Amino acid sequence: MDNLLSQEIKFLPGVGPKRAELLGKELNIFTMEDLLYYFPYKYIDRTKFYKVQEVHGNLPYIQIRGKITEFRLAGGGPSKRLVADFTDETGVLELVWFKGLKWIRQNLKPGKEYILFGKPSLYNNKVNLVHPEIEEAEKQETRLVSSLQAFYNTTEKLKSSYINSRVIQKLQSNLLKQVRGKLSETLPDYLVKKLNLISLPEALLNIHFPENPGLLKKSRMRLKFEELFFIQLNLLKQKNFRKERFHGHPCVKVGEYFNNFYRNNLTFELTEAQKRVLKEIRKDLGSGKQMNRLLQGDVGSGKTLVALMSILIALDNGYQGCLMAPTEVLANQHFQTIQGFLENMDIHIALLTGSTKQTERKEIHKDLQSGQLQILIGTHALIEETVIFNNLGIVIIDEQHRFGVAQRAKLWKKNPRPPHILVMTATPIPRTLAMTLYGDLEVSVINELPPGRKPIKTVHYYDSKRLRLFGFLRKQIEEGRQIYIVYPLIKESEKMDYKDLEDGYESISRDFPPPDYAVSIVHGRMKPEERDIAMRYFISGKTHIMVATTVIEVGVDIRNATVMVIESAERFGLSQLHQLRGRVGRGTDQSYCILMSSVKLTAEAKKRLSVMVRTNDGFEIAEMDLKLRGPGDIEGTQQSGIPFDLKIANLGQDGQILQYARNVAEQILDDDPLLTDKKNLLLVKQIRKLTGRKFDWSAIS
Ligand code: ADP
Ligand code: MG
Repeated sequence: MDNLLSQEIKFLPGVGPKRAELLGKELNIFTMEDLLYYFPYKYIDRTKFYKVQEVHGNLPYIQIRGKITEFRLAGGGPSKRLVADFTDETGVLELVWFKGLKWIRQNLKPGKEYILFGKPSLYNNKVNLVHPEIEEAEKQETRLVSSLQAFYNTTEKLKSSYINSRVIQKLQSNLLKQVRGKLSETLPDYLVKKLNLISLPEALLNIHFPENPGLLKKSRMRLKFEELFFIQLNLLKQKNFRKERFHGHPCVKVGEYFNNFYRNNLTFELTEAQKRVLKEIRKDLGSGKQMNRLLQGDVGSGKTLVALMSILIALDNGYQGCLMAPTEVLANQHFQTIQGFLENMDIHIALLTGSTKQTERKEIHKDLQSGQLQILIGTHALIEETVIFNNLGIVIIDEQHRFGVAQRAKLWKKNPRPPHILVMTATPIPRTLAMTLYGDLEVSVINELPPGRKPIKTVHYYDSKRLRLFGFLRKQIEEGRQIYIVYPLIKESEKMDYKDLEDGYESISRDFPPPDYAVSIVHGRMKPEERDIAMRYFISGKTHIMVATTVIEVGVDIRNATVMVIESAERFGLSQLHQLRGRVGRGTDQSYCILMSSVKLTAEAKKRLSVMVRTNDGFEIAEMDLKLRGPGDIEGTQQSGIPFDLKIANLGQDGQILQYARNVAEQILDDDPLLTDKKNLLLVKQIRKLTGRKFDWSAIS
């Protein structure tokens, strides 16, 4: 059976080489199996027939039965069209074609009974159906039919080559006829029975041609479950495997570095959450197993400090540590921060990024190998082959979403005894997404901000309130505060956006003129040195207002800045708005976030802005972001390195199924940790197939 499914799609009746090429290009359908797993996005009830008299322009897709009484040509030039009158016993409506007129005229017979399917529209106050689907009434029975008709997404290119939803449905029908009775299960019998799932062949048939709504529901459940289940099973199995195999570097003792730091360098009390998380990490480090932990916490919750203290434990046990950030800006900032934290301590620390000079780089490589260099901070230049540690004990990965499972695996492979890994994220990740992206990690959460922080007040103003905004800004500046004004720069290259930014800068400079005020500007097109100077001016308090693009989204921590104004806030996504807001509220003064937008807002934009005004809770915002945008758009899901191209499940909606799938996977692995039991053979096979063996660690053993 597998042979049949892995055959190229061009061999399916109705496809051929030309269509095959298009299907591959446009929908990533290359094999029979790809097609079979190309699922409909909606269904329409085809048991319902409308009467002509009932049809009006606001209806969705309708089905109607009747006869064509007459054809005529109308219009000329590009608006030339073929019109037909279509009647049943209740009235007449018009059918319209702009293309394929000749074919229609030759093949449709007046007086014959047809079933039409289409979306009614109004033209010149008349209801008509443009390019309806047409079928001879008597033929309908002979197809693989179903009362619920499936609809498939297509693309403009496909449609212009006459591959519409209906054609895809026909191809599915052809394919299902071929594979009928030959499809095999992917789940072991005992599981299908225990979980009361419908069989895979039944589910695949009903997902394309539902026999009834009940079976459709069961089919969707089965396929969603299966999709999420295998991801979870794979992740958890890997986790088990690592536990069994990798012993990590035992960091049992807490010594001088940690204690001196705690006693002398830490000027504030750790929050309860920081203490709890540190305890969790210490336990992992001392366990004799390799740590793989995700540290989640909202912006400003103090993760960097926790990371540093974890590194100090590794140092106390004679190991080196490194911290890896996704951008140079962030790596730089971490370096500064950590250097500051470690003042007066005898710890050798360095920064390594793409722009580190060759001579310095050589020095770093040498000191790393000799073990003299204890902490290395940098971008992913750190995991390149040429960088060799003497005794790397712990790796901190910040802003993880750009490092996927694949990159983490690289770290494991690089070292015979892999380092402990702590992945930090400032972007709260919805639970379902975390479970899927980081399902193989233990999770720690810092759910508390350092004391004295007042929740940021957020308001939404329409552009008309600009005067009021400026008044407020003046008052804040009088009180000695500083202000960010951020412009959207969706694509760094977009001229329009730059114009907005520059116009904004000019008008702000006019409204806040010297000598009373100083305004600086920072954006991605400036030279790094210029940007640095502008940043330094702002950091030192020489300028009051910083006009910027989202380059300030990460990497700056200025306590005196209390106001974040976000221009055209409707153009930002929720997570980004939340990240930007996190740039203020870092000190003890009351901070504000002001979302400016035009009056014309889409329903979704309105929703986003109102969520921002309502809550400061990063997790709630992340959940909402996932619901509004869907996981496909959430950063990192593409590079995640797991089969994340979900075909039917939706992490925004299927949280319950996901939890269930994870529970089932856990149960199975409790009983058979590495899936070596014969009864689970099918599961192993399926995991191999889905992951293309890429992460099949058991293949090594
Ligand atoms: P995150 O990395 O989670 O965004 P940071 O580690 O950058 O947060 O911490 C934000 C700011 O709060 C930093 O200036 C840090 O020094 C400070 N900070 C961290 N922990 C505490 C604490 N327990 N009490 C007071 N300030 C803290
Ligand atoms: Mg941080």
